[in-house]
Amino acid sequence: MLKFVSRDRETPEKRNPGERRRDFDEIYARFADERASEQAGRCSQCGVPFCSDHCPLGNDIPDWLKAVAEGRLEDAYALSAATNNMPEVCGRICPQDRLCEGSCVIEQSGHGTVTIGAVEQYITETAWEKGWIKPVKPVQERPQSVGVIGAGPAGLAAAEELRKEGFQVKIYDRYDRTGGLLTYGIPNFKLEKDVIERRTTHLEKSGVQFVRNFEVGRDATLAELRADHDAVLVATGVYKARDLSCPGSGNEGVIAALDYLTASNRKGFGDTVPEFESGALDAAGKQVVVIGGGDTAMDCVRTAVRQGAQSVTCLYRRDRKNMPGSARETANAEEEGVIFEWLASPKAVMGDAARAAGIRVARMELGAPDDSGRRAPVEIKNAEFDLKADLVIKALGFEAEDLPSLFDEPGLKLTPRGTLRVDSTTLQTSVPGVYAAGDIVRGASLVVWAIVDGRKAAAAIVKQLETANVTPLAAE
Ligand code: FAD
Ligand code: SF4
Ligand code: SF4
Repeated sequence: MLKFVSRDRETPEKRNPGERRRDFDEIYARFADERASEQAGRCSQCGVPFCSDHCPLGNDIPDWLKAVAEGRLEDAYALSAATNNMPEVCGRICPQDRLCEGSCVIEQSGHGTVTIGAVEQYITETAWEKGWIKPVKPVQERPQSVGVIGAGPAGLAAAEELRKEGFQVKIYDRYDRTGGLLTYGIPNFKLEKDVIERRTTHLEKSGVQFVRNFEVGRDATLAELRADHDAVLVATGVYKARDLSCPGSGNEGVIAALDYLTASNRKGFGDTVPEFESGALDAAGKQVVVIGGGDTAMDCVRTAVRQGAQSVTCLYRRDRKNMPGSARETANAEEEGVIFEWLASPKAVMGDAARAAGIRVARMELGAPDDSGRRAPVEIKNAEFDLKADLVIKALGFEAEDLPSLFDEPGLKLTPRGTLRVDSTTLQTSVPGVYAAGDIVRGASLVVWAIVDGRKAAAAIVKQLETANVTPLAAE
């Protein structure tokens, strides 16, 4: 350990941009054994590890780094899996620069941060290869069942934790595939689909039942589901896209980010997608402008590059420093040829109802802080400019759908932001026995926070159902 003075920070090898632009494969290779061990050995084993404090899951990072450096990979896996249901996912797509790695003291002492995310991914990928990840076998089976609405990371993490305690778990999802945004939002170049499919298979082998193509609100009300289960967890994410309000925003060729990404992900699975086949959701040969500065916008620009767009520009109304998306993904996009127009906001989409032809852009500057504490963008007079665009992608963020109406459950209380109101300790909603986790509680957030919530809700459900004092099923 403590090799940070003699050994520089390294990340796994990244494919060159020219090659990356031609396919949807992940762009980072995996650490080779020796490299992972060397990089883990840079950790200074802090007594008060800020990295763990800034990991939402409180992962035991210094201990698993030490185990990797000493070649005790099975121990490393056990430590990592004890706090995280999908370490190989977080290792790939957490914005580590803002979380664990961003708080590593080595970085603050002028040496590069320990490469935590890539080592975390390496540990669990090794565990899959070596067969250390076994289906969950609870000590005792219990008769009580939990219905989980939503097979995204919050629902999947909760399901695994509930199975460990022997509860019967059924996950309902309106999609034909599991994974939520991991499957239909996030593109393959960040997270390949077999990573999620492997987790689903693991849960199925662990006894979790999946009911696909089942939409609560359409196929059952919340009350009906509640009557079928001893507890219900709502983990439905947030899907109401914020819209563009400028003139021309209804023109043909102005599309929503998630429609675009879902179509691309479906094509990756080999599905027939009529809106892609017709060209409406395909960027090939087009001049593309993406509006927004978050992870969704970054995924759109990089998807457009891979689809063969003629040009791809990202408009963001604040500056680079204030961008909500991951700095790493922005740098990757730039390497792949995306042009960024910082401090730029759309004023109008030009063209006509039948087609977008361009976009008029206002130049902005940062003014006084707004309610969020961030400096608000203010338009600079007479500084507008035009960009050619025949495909405009709106990536302006997401809000919660109106669940009380959709689920026919007026008793579900909401926060002023429209997310579900929950008890902060138990994550129980205003309807007894109904819990909630993930984006539907926090608003659009991160995978790692969805996992945190899924685990927390599962623990509260276990506590509630245990006190019901039901006799366990006889062991087989
Ligand atoms: P979701 O993943 O949204 O899953 C919810 C599930 O519920 C879905 O499968 C949906 O079909 C199902 N569902 C919804 N309503 C119903 C219903 N009525 N009946 C049945 N099923 C229903 N986070 C990161 O940490 N790193 C990233 O790089 C990153 N990139 C992102 C890129 C994009 C394009 C987007 C949109 C988000 C990204 N995020 C990223 C955020 C992250 O994906 C989410 O925070 C996370 O997936 C939320 O998990 P969840 O389980 O709460 O919801
Ligand atoms: Fe870092 Fe995310 Fe892993 Fe936590 S879960 S250690 S924040 S990569
Ligand atoms: Fe190791 Fe950095 Fe964490 Fe300290 S903060 S324990 S050096 S990874």
